[in-house]
Amino acid sequence: MRHCRITDCPTPAAKRRHFCYRHYHRIRRHGDPHFTTWTVADDQDVATIIREQRPTQGLTRLERVRVAQGLTQLGLPADEIARILTVTPRTVYRWRARDRQPAA
Ligand SMILES: [Zn+2]
Repeated sequence: MRHCRITDCPTPAAKRRHFCYRHYHRIRRHGDPHFTTWTVADDQDVATIIREQRPTQGLTRLERVRVAQGLTQLGLPADEIARILTVTPRTVYRWRARDRQPAA
């Protein structure tokens, strides 16, 4: 099994790629494997995923949170949102709980 070429990345490379899916996606989308996007979201992608409700990988963290918010507003159960975002239901509950916190 080949590993992702990024130093210290423990993830196996994606099929026929030199990088794991996340790093491959970052390179393809941002030109930078270390691009971490806690603050960046593609609104178009977010809207599409909320509309199509298809399991999706490679989203930025903020995008996943936005999609979870959008799907929550549509009344989707946490289990379903977790499946679409390929995260655990526990993560969805955590995001929801944080959304309920009053703004600091
Ligand atoms: Zn990697």
